Amino acid sequence: MELTRGVSPSSVGALLRDRTLRLAAGLAVVVAIPVAILFYFQFRSISALSQSSTVVLRQLSQETADAVTKVLVDTLRTARVDVLLKIGQRQTEPLDLAYIENAFEQGLVNDPFVDRFYVWSDVTNEYKGRVLAYDRTSYGFITNPPESALLVKRFHDLAPEQRAIAIFDDTIGGRRTHFQGQLRFTFTRDRLTSFVALAVDAERLSSDYIPRLLASKFPKIEGPTGFPPLAVTVLDGANRVVYPAGSSVTDRYVDERTFPLVFFEPELASFAAPEKGKPETWRVRTGYGNQMIPDIIAARERPQRVMMAMLAGLMALGVFFIARAAARELRVAEMKSNFVSSVSHDLKTPLALIQLFAETLELGRLKNTERAPEYYRIINSEARKLTRLINNLLDFSKIEAGLRKYQLEPTDLSAVTRRVVDSLDSQFRHNQFSVTLRAPQAPIAVKLDAEAAEQALENLLSNAMKYSPEHREIVVEVDTSGGYGVVRVRDHGIGIPPRLQRKIFQKFYRVQTDAGSGPQGTGLGLAIVDHVMRAHGGFVRVDSEAGRGSTFTLHFPLYRGDINVDETDSGDRGRAADVARSA
Ligand code: ADP
Repeated sequence: MELTRGVSPSSVGALLRDRTLRLAAGLAVVVAIPVAILFYFQFRSISALSQSSTVVLRQLSQETADAVTKVLVDTLRTARVDVLLKIGQRQTEPLDLAYIENAFEQGLVNDPFVDRFYVWSDVTNEYKGRVLAYDRTSYGFITNPPESALLVKRFHDLAPEQRAIAIFDDTIGGRRTHFQGQLRFTFTRDRLTSFVALAVDAERLSSDYIPRLLASKFPKIEGPTGFPPLAVTVLDGANRVVYPAGSSVTDRYVDERTFPLVFFEPELASFAAPEKGKPETWRVRTGYGNQMIPDIIAARERPQRVMMAMLAGLMALGVFFIARAAARELRVAEMKSNFVSSVSHDLKTPLALIQLFAETLELGRLKNTERAPEYYRIINSEARKLTRLINNLLDFSKIEAGLRKYQLEPTDLSAVTRRVVDSLDSQFRHNQFSVTLRAPQAPIAVKLDAEAAEQALENLLSNAMKYSPEHREIVVEVDTSGGYGVVRVRDHGIGIPPRLQRKIFQKFYRVQTDAGSGPQGTGLGLAIVDHVMRAHGGFVRVDSEAGRGSTFTLHFPLYRGDINVDETDSGDRGRAADVARSA
């Protein structure tokens, strides 16, 4: 498999031709496009939903503001329509007391916010110039109550304006009171002849009557679910909150309606005196707590958008992992097929050599008998290669089946290393490698399975030879480091680019610079090393630079107990720490 990566056009072409990449791209397209379309529509529907929610919230607010204002205005205006207008000039000039009393009585029932009604007439004889009042406490006329003089004076003061409706506020008995009168004039309008009026206690109206009226008319405003509820606030002329009782003024509202606090239809303002007089302006405000509609919509949209983005991310991740897994499977399949041909090659070559040299020796074709040892060495070394290959294959299948067992014994790491280096001596020589072994005199105690550790080390040494075509020098060091007994195998070969340094430990993985060329192999050697080291509670590390060589280091956890020093190995230990062998 082609694994060289770069940016040259040829390598881009190679990438496109790479089946695994094609597969990943195909998968991404097949999944990503429908998902993208889905998400596009989902996003659009979120926007559409936001728009319609905005409309609904806006409408609810406007309609409620209108409805509340209308209820207030309509309620307040009935006092004039029901009572003041019902008592016409015909009933006041002269006074038709029975009729008026009936109208006042009805008025007090129908308009509970009115505290008192008045009638005054300059025409009738009996009560001429006297104010007759009618209220809930009397349920009969009171003649000239204390405010009579004020009423007569204020209405006479307003009379020159010649308006049918006159309004004023005053404080009576310490309570602020709204007065409104229906004035009647002579035909030429130059003299006030009678009036019918009403008084409303300002405090009772705003702190009792209106809150109760609104609470009963708008017990609960149904808004769309999932949104903050719509709140209605009514403010009086001094910006005090009238409704809901006890709450404070909110600065943020969606809609505001204003209306004058009068007891007649606001459209009739031009018929009222004083024309430019200032009835209090009340306000009806509607809003959603302290939030404006765009904020509410944005707050609602945000989690949805975040969720969508997260979903998209998850999906992308899913596609990525599936593509990666599929690509890996493909690669493994490809590596397996390479593996079969490598194994066949690795079996055939040593066998052919063994056969050739054995035959030569057997048939006595060797002219120069001095070369016989060389032939034996070749046969031996090729046989070892075969053994290593077969051991690797057997071990690998055991590892794969989970059957590989390790018998860890306290052992001197230097001794094991020396044994392996020694046993490969003829191969080093044959391949013209100079090998330096550096091991301390004192034993390094580790617990290991000698067979497995030797195999791991042999794999490293054989790789060091295989991948060092020119600079044929290998250094093997035994040492301790950070609680581990370590064996370093350093070569000056072709090295491994950093991005591939993790992959080389995967089963079947092989780095090949040029398809077909380069040393043959199964891609199992390092996978086995990795497995062996893990089974020992240690690990293998690689430090390498492409073109400069590699150092593979085996880490075995140090053993704190005693070890049996194998006497056959102790002879070596007596030598100098640095033992150099040259072929
Ligand atoms: P094999 O040697 O049979 O290919 P391994 O598992 O032993 O399989 O090694 C995997 C890959 O790691 C090799 O194909 C090679 O490219 C790389 N490699 C291993 N050891 C070395 C080394 N000492 N120097 C450079 N490359 C190495």
